[in-house]
Amino acid sequence: MSNHEAILEINDLSVAYGTAKGDVLAVQDLNLRVLPNEIMGLIGESGSGKSTLAYAVMRLLKGSARVVKGSIRILGRDIYAMDKEELRQFRWANLSMVFQSAMNALNPVLTVETQIIDTLLSHRPQLSKSEARDKAYELVDLVRIDRSRITSYPHELSGGMRQRIVIAIAIALEPSLVIMDEPTTALDVVVQRSILDQIKEIQQRAQFSVLFISHDFSLVSQLASRIAIMYAGRVVEVTKARSLMDPEVAHHPYTEGLWRAIPKITGKSVALEGIPGTPPNLLRLPSGCAFHPRCRYAFEPCRTMRPLLQVVEGSEISCHRFVPEEIHHGQ
Ligand code: SF4
Repeated sequence: MSNHEAILEINDLSVAYGTAKGDVLAVQDLNLRVLPNEIMGLIGESGSGKSTLAYAVMRLLKGSARVVKGSIRILGRDIYAMDKEELRQFRWANLSMVFQSAMNALNPVLTVETQIIDTLLSHRPQLSKSEARDKAYELVDLVRIDRSRITSYPHELSGGMRQRIVIAIAIALEPSLVIMDEPTTALDVVVQRSILDQIKEIQQRAQFSVLFISHDFSLVSQLASRIAIMYAGRVVEVTKARSLMDPEVAHHPYTEGLWRAIPKITGKSVALEGIPGTPPNLLRLPSGCAFHPRCRYAFEPCRTMRPLLQVVEGSEISCHRFVPEEIHHGQ
């Protein structure tokens, strides 16, 4: 696939936060592509840089955060080269985001109906009010909310319903890419499951791409077709979700550790193993491979040389274990 076919293309991206102790790179030298009509999962522990990446893609970085290197293209367009008005139009028509807290995304003093209609009319002024209302009803049908609830205010709805409304608004303008940042984390497990099923169903019906960000590996592996795993601001692996179930397929030691920590329904009781240690302080990243203090396979080059992403059995993995020995000696 050539580069322009990707819906989202991130090249060599670094994002820094300015602090009193100097710049901290929350995202470093990151490359990632999301393809048309795919659900791509982005996994990482807290502090891995995954939410910073989402905000960078939306061009919503706040405070001292800024892109220091690289580019982000959506549908082939560099979003950091757009002026404010171009970005405003582009963001809703081609790109939208669902945040963790639905309450923050909705206006508490407007009904759901008004909020959906306002979104439609502000970007599609050619629509009549009644056409926008019809479309609003279609959208609540799509996220399986009873039409009678459309005149409710956000506080009159349950957490699950509010998150469904946020999803309805995010897809109202039929964007090509929806970024979902921990969209179900605040919800209970049953509601979470039903919303995930709906995301999958709606995505297949409406045909858009999703970058689904979460710390929950089990959940993402069931939803996404491909998964990128982030550690300390870098992508350490990009793999097909189904390859995780195949014990014959090699993975990054961090991916392996995350996968081992998930309870599996096999009928057998299996002791779960976590990953020893804690994620590194971004101000003092370990040398070489940032994962080496926690890695059960660490060997000589890991402490001094940073591994690069390379293709391994259909995945992309950054780990010295998969680099032929003669290359280590040649470096
Ligand atoms: Fe472990 Fe070394 Fe691979 Fe890093 S490069 S994940 S320390 S084996």
